[in-house]
Amino acid sequence: MKDKVLAVLNEPSVQTINFALPKTFPMNGIDFKLVIKAIENGTIRVEEGGVPAGMAKYTAQDDGDSKANTMYLGQNNTSEIVFKSLMVHEAVHAIYDLKRMTIPWLDNEVIAYVSQGFYLNKHGYSGGLSQEAKLGQEIATNINEQAKDPFWLDALIDYLRNDDVYKLYICKTFVGDG
Ligand SMILES: [Zn+2]
Repeated sequence: MKDKVLAVLNEPSVQTINFALPKTFPMNGIDFKLVIKAIENGTIRVEEGGVPAGMAKYTAQDDGDSKANTMYLGQNNTSEIVFKSLMVHEAVHAIYDLKRMTIPWLDNEVIAYVSQGFYLNKHGYSGGLSQEAKLGQEIATNINEQAKDPFWLDALIDYLRNDDVYKLYICKTFVGDG
């Protein structure tokens, strides 16, 4: 699984995910190289399981049964491209951890979903996505309009704030500790 994640993060379609959204940090795809290096040298681990099928998560600090600096990938229950896009999403969280950034969880999730959206677009994929992933893809598709008319961005923020999974922590702060 580790090799699979490395192969995805090494794709040019990942390292060219560059965008800037209003009122948050710009995304620079070259930063995925930090995650590649960390996985290669064992600073970040990749584990199969630990989350339900079709899900993934990155844990920056020890949290219950989840270990720090670990990307957990549930069994793939959907298309290969969606599965790979989850790796891109979690790698964004890993970037902020490696860069020791303290940022609102909301920004962290928005940038992860939009990066995932860019990845799906670059592979021409649509359909069969969670609502958040679908909105992230709409933002990626309409990236140039978001500064003037952040319709899709506002929709994603609203969804994240109200989703049962995310509302537990979306108003909190993510603290990257390397
Ligand atoms: Zn996330």
